[in-house]
Amino acid sequence: MPSLMPSEEHISHEPNNPEAWICLCGNKPVAEGFYPCDAGGNQVEPTPEAWTTGCYVCARCGRIIDQKSLSVVGRRVARSDNAPTLT
Ligand SMILES: [Zn+2]
Repeated sequence: MPSLMPSEEHISHEPNNPEAWICLCGNKPVAEGFYPCDAGGNQVEPTPEAWTTGCYVCARCGRIIDQKSLSVVGRRVARSDNAPTLT
């Protein structure tokens, strides 16, 4: 087995359509799709004010994807029932 496993994941896309992403989980834009998100993988409005990361989150597996490099930069943290509440 190779010991030099890349630490960074990349998603792929359709050969003739760089916008037709294929996530590592198999999700595609025509399936669950991808949504603009913040650094935590939370869906945001695609406005310059709200969307500062330029990243998308996979609606199926929660991988956070850099739209320029198609590299997986993180993973959405599942919301828990006892999430801290801002006061
Ligand atoms: Zn995915």
